[in-house]
Amino acid sequence: MKIIKKDDNMSVPDRVEIPFIEGDGIGPDIWNAAQLVFDRAVAKAYGTRRSIVWKEVLAGEKGFKKAGEWLPEETLNTIREHVVAIKGPLTTPVGKGIRSVNVAIRQKLDLFACVRPVSYIDPVPSPMKRPEKVDMVIFRENTEDLYAGIEWQAGSRDAEKVARFLTEEMGVVLPPGAGIGIKPISAANTKRLVASAITYAIDNRQPSVTLMHKGNIMKYTEGAFMQWGYEVAAEHFADQTVTEAEVYEKHNGRPPAGRVVIKDRIADMLFQQVLLRPDEFHVIATPNLNGDYLSDALAAQVGGLGLAPGANIGDTCAVFEATHGTAPKYAGQDKVNPSSLILSGAMMFEYMGWKEVATAIRGALQNTIMEGTVTYDLARQISGAREVKCSAFAERIVAHF
Ligand code: NAP
Repeated sequence: MKIIKKDDNMSVPDRVEIPFIEGDGIGPDIWNAAQLVFDRAVAKAYGTRRSIVWKEVLAGEKGFKKAGEWLPEETLNTIREHVVAIKGPLTTPVGKGIRSVNVAIRQKLDLFACVRPVSYIDPVPSPMKRPEKVDMVIFRENTEDLYAGIEWQAGSRDAEKVARFLTEEMGVVLPPGAGIGIKPISAANTKRLVASAITYAIDNRQPSVTLMHKGNIMKYTEGAFMQWGYEVAAEHFADQTVTEAEVYEKHNGRPPAGRVVIKDRIADMLFQQVLLRPDEFHVIATPNLNGDYLSDALAAQVGGLGLAPGANIGDTCAVFEATHGTAPKYAGQDKVNPSSLILSGAMMFEYMGWKEVATAIRGALQNTIMEGTVTYDLARQISGAREVKCSAFAERIVAHF
């Protein structure tokens, strides 16, 4: 019943067990809605030939209440064993317990690539004049950068110790009493992230991969990210890629057919370019923090976080997740939009090779929105829309199968 993955080969049984984390806050509402859609989409695509056995694993508040831990080891082991899992949003306890359960899942399972596709679903309201031009996939490094959580509080003894070392040993001048954070970016983690972005671009016939960085200022971290990105393209994908510089120097400004163009953009400039000329960008590979900001900004261009799917992918396993948080003020109200989790499920089915299920889900979701049946978040922006609850929205989606 379990998926087996060896190197790049995955074998998925017809009756497959998939672990899920329900999530905190609005998690139970969106999970129930999403599960209905997933089961019916599998039945629509394959009849009784294929099915899913959902296996709940604990994390977050439910993990703490039932198992005494925010992230039980058993949950991590079960995900490792099953290769693929899906999760709702998890509360980050403030000032107690684990730093962030979400970040811990990514780091402990070495899910090094956070993959976030952003494309427009007609007729979702958007602040863009031509939102249909937004069609990008972000590959955000998931395990290092400032997200590694290496930091010391201002005024603490440890901060003073680090400050003393930096001042006395390294000749650095620091503002007195500063909080200090460390930003590690390594060749190995950069190269595997950029390699997966290039592989995705090749497999999905995308014209370009953009390395987003702030290397003009942070030369040895973000600048190195860019350099290592170009290096991995040259080392492993020389026949399938071409750099933007080569396009102009050797090919009269026209990329050779079938080659993915590797280019780079400084982060602040990319933020304006994805607004002004979104159709020039396809796959974007970037360090952790840039990717965090850019994913939400791009999601806003096509209607907001309620519709943005995401996946955390490593060499041995993958966890698919809604990209928004637990929206605690709506918890238990059966109110919010379950589309982010539903579309993350579509990504999961694609990853498993069950492409027909992904297609069925995306088509039915689009038809539901097109007929004007939406949850509160879209209803407040679409005049004449029929506002329904989270569960009713899912029922409407399955009615379109
Ligand atoms: P949030 O939970 O994403 O909610 C912020 C706002 O976004 C909501 O008030 C709502 O806007 C809108 N929203 C979020 N999900 C929606 C949905 N499914 N449908 C419609 N609208 C939706 O952000 P937060 O309030 O900053 O974070 C709350 C908790 O979630 C924190 O503990 C945080 O650490 C955690 N978190 C977890 C993850 C994760 O699990 N990966 C990610 C981010 C945050 P309106 O108020 O305008 O209706």
